[in-house]
Amino acid sequence: MDEFGLIQVYFAGAPAAQQGCGLDHRQALGIGDDAAVLAPIPQGQQLVVTTDSLVENRHYLADVDPTALGHKALAVSLSDLAAMGAKPWAFTLNLHLRGIRKPWLEAFSKGLNALALEHGMSLVGGDTVSVQAEEAVVVTAMGLVPLGQALLRDGLQPGDELWVSGSLGDGVYALKHKPRAKKLLWPQPRLALGQALREQQLAHAAIDISDGLASELGHLLERSQARARGTGLTAHVHLQSLSQCLGPELQAAVNRNELDLQQACLLAARSGDEYELLFAAPLAARPAIEALALQLDLRLTPIGRVDLTNACPTGQPASNDMAQSRWYGLDGHPLSLSQDALAGFNHFQPPAGQET
Ligand code: ADP
Ligand code: MG
Repeated sequence: MDEFGLIQVYFAGAPAAQQGCGLDHRQALGIGDDAAVLAPIPQGQQLVVTTDSLVENRHYLADVDPTALGHKALAVSLSDLAAMGAKPWAFTLNLHLRGIRKPWLEAFSKGLNALALEHGMSLVGGDTVSVQAEEAVVVTAMGLVPLGQALLRDGLQPGDELWVSGSLGDGVYALKHKPRAKKLLWPQPRLALGQALREQQLAHAAIDISDGLASELGHLLERSQARARGTGLTAHVHLQSLSQCLGPELQAAVNRNELDLQQACLLAARSGDEYELLFAAPLAARPAIEALALQLDLRLTPIGRVDLTNACPTGQPASNDMAQSRWYGLDGHPLSLSQDALAGFNHFQPPAGQET
């Protein structure tokens, strides 16, 4: 089978490519021509675009379950759409493959198509190239939001509460102890949550957790600080609260006394590959957020709050950094953590054994 046969069988003919994002065939064209021609964007909506690469030996191993990889390739982009409060619309797929392995492609497309169908997303094109070194899978996803209403990173305000969805920690724990764990392989993008937060105007800011809670919180602070002009923002995060949303694998390890609860919370704070949402909302939104958790059957946990830097509750002097995070241990006392203790995934770190 050549490249064209592959596209035809596994992608053009697949249900995700056939559903046409609610498009009329004469007005919109997906796979098969030199480029896709998309239907007009619905009135009053904006296109939200995100792209993510999964690279062999960096994001997955060669022997990964290809069905899970197909799922994850799309899920990571859907998680970005979720964080923006966008509704999934269409996507493209670039495959860098060493060769055409039918069972692999069949399984990969199965995982990909199932998730695409679940979210009514249409595969409208892509590219397929043969490589000699690492393989890679690149998805570019497009979503829609009402004009000017996307959830952004830069809206943190003093007084906001910080919330996380689902549970944290199984990403990093799985990487080390159970590389085939569900959380790592089958992330569930929080689309319904992102859209509800936007529709009900509950959140001031949101981000998805791909590199670790502590690191994503840093991004929220940086982006928001740039807009806060002059007043410093400090995020106060309580491990006591974070301990309420540890992933089941990590919690089980604590129960078996393999690590103590505080260590587990710190692991959860640095765990990447979680694809949960971290969002900030005013105190007044709490009842609505709690109702949303029930409605979506999704745990939503308040883990801290945002303050003005010079209004630190513990009375520490404000540091030179205008935006900062302060972490409090299980006993409620501030922790002095090195930056490394909470560092997230570093994309440019050389693989183990290749440190320079
Ligand atoms: P061109 O050479 O003009 O770029 P290609 O031969 O690469 O066109 O692709 C032919 C058609 O197949 C295009 O519509 C393209 O979007 C689609 N396509 C190629 N690879 C993929 C893929 N991996 N997934 C989905 N569609 C693909
Ligand atoms: Mg091409």
